[in-house]
Amino acid sequence: MNRRKFLFYNSIFFTPIPYYFKQLLYISDIEKYDYAWDNNLRYIPQKFNTIKSLRDNKLHIHTINVAQGDSTLIVTPRNKIILIDTGHAVHDGRHVINYLNEQDIDRIDYLILTHPHWDHIGGFKQIINMYENNLNGIKNIYHSGMTHNTNTYETYNNTLQNFTGNKKIVSEGDNLNIDNISFNILNPIQGLNEDESINDNSIVIHIKYENTNIILPSDAEKYTENRLSKKYTQNLNSDIYKVGHHGENTSTHTKFISKIDPDYAIISSAYNSRFNHPDTPVLERLSNKNIKTYWTGIHGSIVKISDGQNWDIVPQVNKTIKPLSVKNHSQIKYPPHIGVKQY
Ligand SMILES: [Zn+2]
Repeated sequence: MNRRKFLFYNSIFFTPIPYYFKQLLYISDIEKYDYAWDNNLRYIPQKFNTIKSLRDNKLHIHTINVAQGDSTLIVTPRNKIILIDTGHAVHDGRHVINYLNEQDIDRIDYLILTHPHWDHIGGFKQIINMYENNLNGIKNIYHSGMTHNTNTYETYNNTLQNFTGNKKIVSEGDNLNIDNISFNILNPIQGLNEDESINDNSIVIHIKYENTNIILPSDAEKYTENRLSKKYTQNLNSDIYKVGHHGENTSTHTKFISKIDPDYAIISSAYNSRFNHPDTPVLERLSNKNIKTYWTGIHGSIVKISDGQNWDIVPQVNKTIKPLSVKNHSQIKYPPHIGVKQY
C-alpha cells in the first residue's frame, strides 16, 4: 500500500463524516485539475505556525500560492487592504482565507475581480461570507461587468447581487489613489469589447508607488497586449511584470514585455497542472530579456515589498530565478502561508 492510500484509509477512522465526503470530492478534483502542493492530505487539516508579516509602512504585494489560479493581496503603507481575485473554485477560497488569516487581516477595503473565470472568482462567495458575517466586512467591490455561463459564475453573481456595500464596474481610464499609490486601470475598454474573449476583457492594473511600479495584466492575451502596447508608453513601464494568463503562450509577447521592460516576472500557476504552465516559449522570451522569474509552482507565495524606491522580493521558498530553469525544480510541499517571514 503506498503512502497516499495508507493516509486515505486511516482518514476513514479519524475524520468526521461531512468532512470526509468533502475531502473525497476535493481529492478527485485536485487529481483531475490541480495537482499541486496540497495533494498531500496531511497538510489540509493542520494548523501551522507562521511568522507574521510586519506592518512596516511599506507597500506589500503578495502573490498568494493558490495553485492553478490567481489571488493577489496588497497591503498599503497605511494598512489599506486590497485583494485582487480569489483563487480557483475547487479550493473554495480556503487558501486565500488561510493566508489572510495568517496576516491578521480582518477587513478588505477593495476586492477586485479581474474577470469571471473560475480560477479567479472561485473563492468569492466564501470570502464574502467570511468577511461580511464573521469579520469586519468588505467595503468596495470592483469588477469588469463581464458575464459568463458557468455555475461558478452563477454563484459569484448571486453573491455579488446580494452584497450591499459599494459595487462598481471599472474600465480603462479609472484611477484609484490609495495612500499615494496609484492604481491605474488600463483594460477593459469602457462598455467591454464584445468581439474579444473574456480573457481579453480582463481588468489590467498598473500600480505606481513613488519610483516603483508593477503591472498586473490578469489573463489578458495577445489582442489586449497589442492594444496596450500601441496606446501606452510610460504607463506600461514596470519593475515587476505579473506574467499574463499564468504563463500560457497566449500572452507575454515580446512587444508587450519590451514596453514593460521589467526586472522581475511573477507567474501564478500550479506545478504540473493539466495546462503545463508556464509554457516554454514564454520562459524563453523572459530569458531573452534577462528577467528574473518567480513561479508559485516552485517558489510558493511570493511577497514584493516596496519602500517607494526599491523592491525587496521574498518568496516562500528560495529556488532558482532563471526563467529556463524554473521548470526543472521540484514543487514545494507546503501550504501557501507557511514560511513567509523575515521582513
Ligand atoms: Zn486564469
